[in-house]
Amino acid sequence: MHFDVVIVGAGHGGAQVAVMLRTQKFEGSIAIVGDEPEFPYERPPLSKEYFAGEKEFERIQIRPAKYWDDRNVTMLLGKRVVSVDSAGHSVTTSDGEVIGYGKLVWAAGGAPRMLPIPGGDLPGVQGVRTRADADVMKAASETARQIVVIGGGYIGLEAAAVLRKAGKKVVLLEALDRVLARVAGEPLSRFYEQEHRDHGVDLRLGVAVSAIEGGDHVTGVRLADGEVIPADLVIVGIGIVPAVEPLIAAGADGGNGVRVDRLCKTSLPDIYAIGDCAAHVNDFAEGAEIRLESVQNANDQANVVAKGICGDEAPYHAIPWFWSNQYDLKLQTAGLSTGYDQAVLRGDPATRSFSVVYLKAGRVIAIDCVNRAKDYVQGRMIVTAGLAASEAQLADIETPLKELLPA
Ligand code: FAD
Repeated sequence: MHFDVVIVGAGHGGAQVAVMLRTQKFEGSIAIVGDEPEFPYERPPLSKEYFAGEKEFERIQIRPAKYWDDRNVTMLLGKRVVSVDSAGHSVTTSDGEVIGYGKLVWAAGGAPRMLPIPGGDLPGVQGVRTRADADVMKAASETARQIVVIGGGYIGLEAAAVLRKAGKKVVLLEALDRVLARVAGEPLSRFYEQEHRDHGVDLRLGVAVSAIEGGDHVTGVRLADGEVIPADLVIVGIGIVPAVEPLIAAGADGGNGVRVDRLCKTSLPDIYAIGDCAAHVNDFAEGAEIRLESVQNANDQANVVAKGICGDEAPYHAIPWFWSNQYDLKLQTAGLSTGYDQAVLRGDPATRSFSVVYLKAGRVIAIDCVNRAKDYVQGRMIVTAGLAASEAQLADIETPLKELLPA
């Protein structure tokens, strides 16, 4: 078997590479090798509408199944790539198949990080990454009496919101002293903590988990202070481990992800990497090497690679954006707030419609908008422009953000 382009990972990034290659009129052969059985689907609904039962699986597919056939994209599903031979330009799958490539695109995402503590792998302890994970979590939550969510990041908070809406008893445990600590400023963290408490989540900050209790199924979560919180389902949302072992074993540079340049090329010839597993220098992180776990990043890097393969090389330079739905709150973020030295509140959190604008050295670097779609749209412009503005200007909700831009 040989294809001009082999894409490893049938997720957001992998699907978009194939879509963009065909949009660019690429006529070569394309195969996507994915270890899940499904055609590419959207992952964000797994902790939102799909988990809540508000959207059927068919409605979260990235393209209808027929699309791939019509565009002559060969789907090799239920197959895991276990090794890469960069000199021989081939990959080997877990069932022993050798697939030759002209160009290889590694879009393998990551696996949920699990807790390295006693009982961390007991039945009833569930990470959330795939449709299969979400299905297990959904079924288990229907009969569960009390659910413990470990991790106050977006996935943990979204799962907690869905479960509370379904009337479940939920305890949420966060090791740090605020939720969303790695991705948002304090005003936003405090707002979401209050929302979850108001909705009945028993939210605990600064707690260390020492063990998961149970025999053949989880029965509780033991904290470092000895308290055991009863649980018949434990949802773990503490980040991912990037899926890059075969590439690193083949000699690619990297560690926490595989290192890519601005064209998303790895250090190995004819091998690209994109999405959650790609460690790249990001212009919106002041040139720091980071991994971004977002649909935006996966799609935009996919476009860079597909165009590059078609001979139109242009470096990755896309404003990061993200969203999260919890209860009736729609959070939209643009830019990266890491390293901010000033956070300006725009609007009153008590109205449940406000934004937080982040500045560094007097320039806007990011914005988080809660139920303020207009701020988000215009916030993208001021982040892209690196607008220099005063606290008073940014805090004034009567002035649309775009009016702060120089004419
Ligand atoms: P993925 O979409 O994860 O695709 C990788 C695929 O490769 C997977 O199918 C994986 O199983 C497969 N694979 C791994 N190793 C191999 C191998 N060796 N061989 C073959 N196949 C392999 N982002 C947002 O922007 N907004 C959100 O609201 C949001 N919510 C999220 C909610 C949840 C529950 C999750 C899990 C993620 C969420 N994200 C969100 C993140 C977003 O889904 C990811 O950033 C995005 O899916 C990354 O795309 P990717 O192509 O890098 O990886």
